[in-house]
Amino acid sequence: MTRVATPGDDVRVAFVGAGPGEADLITLRGAARLQVADVVLFDSLADPALRQLAPNARWIDVGKRGFTGVAHAPRGGGRENTGQDTINALLVKHAQSGVRVVRLKGGDPSVFGRLEEELEALAAAGIECEVVPGVTAALAAAAATQRPLTRRGAGRSVALTTAMTKTGELVAGRHADTESFYMAGKQLAALSRRLTTAGWPAETPALVVSRAGWPDQLASEHTVATLGDATVLHSGRPTVVTVGVGAAAVQGERITTATIAPMPLAEKATPTP
Ligand code: SAH
Repeated sequence: MTRVATPGDDVRVAFVGAGPGEADLITLRGAARLQVADVVLFDSLADPALRQLAPNARWIDVGKRGFTGVAHAPRGGGRENTGQDTINALLVKHAQSGVRVVRLKGGDPSVFGRLEEELEALAAAGIECEVVPGVTAALAAAAATQRPLTRRGAGRSVALTTAMTKTGELVAGRHADTESFYMAGKQLAALSRRLTTAGWPAETPALVVSRAGWPDQLASEHTVATLGDATVLHSGRPTVVTVGVGAAAVQGERITTATIAPMPLAEKATPTP
């Protein structure tokens, strides 16, 4: 049986979910791990305000964007892998040097965060680690729009799905009553077509939320057929698409989202005097 480290152990590497947006969405345990960290390897999505939780640590940006064009990256296809290999090597190097390392990942480390590769790299080097969960984007989107992902009776299952395959192809199926699509923001019109082909009825609610958990979060409301209309509004922002039962407004909902000229939800939620 694999021994699983517990928080009380003297574990030198902690994967910490930073949450989806503002620094205060991190867990208390995640914040505690940051406080004692000597080195923090972080992704570009994380809120810079998190640095205040570990002011004396060395912060190293290993976000994929930061890694594009690293000197030894081969041209073309191998680039992303080189980035991941470099991150794995950095993790192992710092852990072996005896310092406390936090590997800070946006949202939850276990969700589309390449955690598998990094766990394998540590295991191969015989280094124990701990994983501290975080709030994943799909949950932040549900919170931002006050649309529960599960609904009694009708919404019994939720799927977290990436529409992008390893080779950059867009695929979509129908796996649950509510399905949250990550990494599809740039291809919403194509996602709409794929969802229709997969059997989602054209009128199925589809909710698009970008920068969930940040003060400038935006949400817009569509159907599977009209999902492409969200492209301009959310362009260039991390976006999660919720499709199905969990995307529908709840009865008497006070927060409204609109396809045309939407406003940030934060502004709309302010009660009128
Ligand atoms: N581990 C992260 C996901 C990393 S993959 C998590 O648990 O949330 C990156 C994708 O996550 C983005 O392409 C986008 O689809 C989604 N994402 C991350 N942060 C987001 C945010 N604040 N709002 C909406 N979507 C977000």
